[in-house]
Amino acid sequence: MAEIRQLPKGYSDTPVLPDSQWRVHDIDRPAPPLVTPPTFSSQERSGLPPSDAIVLFDGSSLNAWAGRDGGPAAWNLLADGAMEVAPRTGNIQTRETFGNCQLHVEWSAPTEITADSQGRGNSGVFLLGLYEVQVLDGYDNPTYADGLPAAIYGQHPPLVNACVPPGHWHVYDIVFESPVFAAGELVSPAYMTVFHNGLIVQHRQAIQGPTQHRRLASYEDPHGPKGPLVLQDHGDRVRFRNIWIRPIERFSAT
Ligand code: MG
Repeated sequence: MAEIRQLPKGYSDTPVLPDSQWRVHDIDRPAPPLVTPPTFSSQERSGLPPSDAIVLFDGSSLNAWAGRDGGPAAWNLLADGAMEVAPRTGNIQTRETFGNCQLHVEWSAPTEITADSQGRGNSGVFLLGLYEVQVLDGYDNPTYADGLPAAIYGQHPPLVNACVPPGHWHVYDIVFESPVFAAGELVSPAYMTVFHNGLIVQHRQAIQGPTQHRRLASYEDPHGPKGPLVLQDHGDRVRFRNIWIRPIERFSAT
């Protein structure tokens, strides 16, 4: 076997960085934890979550989810590893609560089309149960821009419409930062970054307050940094699969 050349593992004679206690290439700076990354999904099958994710849905059960009364989630568990909205049974929410996080969700809209605009494949992903990333069949389906899929509903349209046809799987990768309140006052709004099918559609957008329909949002009701993840029953048989979340305590490395 060829000899491996040994090179410096860092330095202790370099300048201190302006935004931290560490030097440039600091030999003592803690190494980030090792994580096995996720694998990509195909249309036919789900990928695998990263090693440090909390798996919220992998096709085996709805145990991580509750219905509106706190009882079992009443949505349909399908044989192919997806779950499906059971219309008019209500939203479902995680039993665990989350704050700052990276969230991965896959969804597909029904192939049977019975309405247009907001009546076609409508669902939603609500961070903290309050801040909606819209789920909608936006494929050749005109509707208001801030109600398109991957819109921060009622506030920020996506930068592009990355929709695939109904029946195909979509991927949302979301980074969420909880709003911060102190003494009942807003200190920092919520921020959201969203990739839709691999395309950046929201880049650290400041959110104006909990999602509203036909009115302005505001932060008039202060709340804690965590809440359940909620999936919306808007009456359409939208499917979900491969849902995982990584709580992020701090967005900067030490
Ligand atoms: Mg919705």
